Amino acid sequence: MITSFVSPRLLVMGGGSIGQAAAVLAQLGLSRPLVVTDPWMVSSGTVEKLLAPLKAAGISYGVFSDTVPDPTDTVIATGVAALQGRDYDCLIGFGGGSPMDTAKAMTILAAAPAGAKMRDFKVPAQANKAALPVICIPTTAGTGSEATRFTVITDTETDEKMLIAGLGALPLAAIVDYELTFSVPPRTTADTGIDSLTHALEALVSRRANPESDEYALRAMRLIGPNLRTVYHDPKNAAAREAMMKGATLAGLAFSNSSVALVHGMSRPIGAHFHVPHGLSNAMLLPAVTAYSLNAALPRYAEAARAIGVAGRDEGDQSAGAKLLEELSALNRELAVPTPAAYGIDAAKWNGLLPTMAAQALASGSPANNPAVPDAEAIIALYQRAWKG
Ligand code: NAD
Repeated sequence: MITSFVSPRLLVMGGGSIGQAAAVLAQLGLSRPLVVTDPWMVSSGTVEKLLAPLKAAGISYGVFSDTVPDPTDTVIATGVAALQGRDYDCLIGFGGGSPMDTAKAMTILAAAPAGAKMRDFKVPAQANKAALPVICIPTTAGTGSEATRFTVITDTETDEKMLIAGLGALPLAAIVDYELTFSVPPRTTADTGIDSLTHALEALVSRRANPESDEYALRAMRLIGPNLRTVYHDPKNAAAREAMMKGATLAGLAFSNSSVALVHGMSRPIGAHFHVPHGLSNAMLLPAVTAYSLNAALPRYAEAARAIGVAGRDEGDQSAGAKLLEELSALNRELAVPTPAAYGIDAAKWNGLLPTMAAQALASGSPANNPAVPDAEAIIALYQRAWKG
């Protein structure tokens, strides 16, 4: 059997590793970065943690900080315009998944012929070309985008969150410094942590799972399972923050080499239409989708329960699977995940959009990777179940 495995060429991990940014650039033969970040990173001064070591090393850089949460095609076009006529030799995506995905999409669009649009690259297209290498520095734990061959961009004409996949979206290098996550507020800590857990779980149960991705998924779950509640309640807990950051990156490697599945397929339309943060919409769906899928891959879900630490090593699959379902609901309660209604989503709008959301979920290809493959009707029923919480 021939398999392939993708990962960044260089992964520098550990507390304080941001201080090595200039050395990483030098190692890669790069010296003229455009830093792609978000307005909060600039207003809070956080971006200085990257800019200061660059300055100290005499590196001249540009900063593009007009990224938005859940990046849009229009922001990408503005970002590409900021590259034109400038002599940058790389992009540094600095922030959560949104700035990192913006940098990835910018380099893909900048490599395309004039007039190309982001939607030309959505799956099943392959986005393999990049104009400039991208280095990612995550500040949430997290999307794992620093280690994946994906970027997720919203089409502002159709309100569709498009999955874009290919080697063009794979970072050349990543610097993964958990100390950057101490400032993440509890809500975002919970949402991004559940996102990582969902990546690892979906990578493990995916029809595209393989022995290599399994190793990363299980390791990620062993790190995330015992630490997610801790970082939510105790944000300054360094050991827990470190475990979550490592878990997020390993989960990224897992799903980048396997896939995500039904939770992510259904989550993107919620984000696009109702602007629910990505990890939160995953969390709203995770218990219902796992209950729906459980018996189609019971041994895998049971293994996940053991890795997360809610079932014993010798516990049978049936019992372990049941404990996983209990845990996902308990986690949502403890991390105060609201139902879509409690989040403030209008019931009539939600119900009216269900057929569109189901069609968009199916078109993304992710539901086809799920152990139980749903049709549009089953997806609508799952959205209705998630509505009740
Ligand atoms: P985000 O990047 O949108 O950031 C959320 C908020 O957290 C922002 O206000 C940001 O300023 C703030 N923030 C970030 N780091 C902080 C810090 N250290 N301290 C305080 N505040 C901080 O959120 P995210 O969840 O990291 O990323 C979500 C995006 O990533 C979505 O668009 C999602 O679709 C995408 N995503 C991509 C992949 C991939 O493989 N490319 C995987 C999963 C999700």
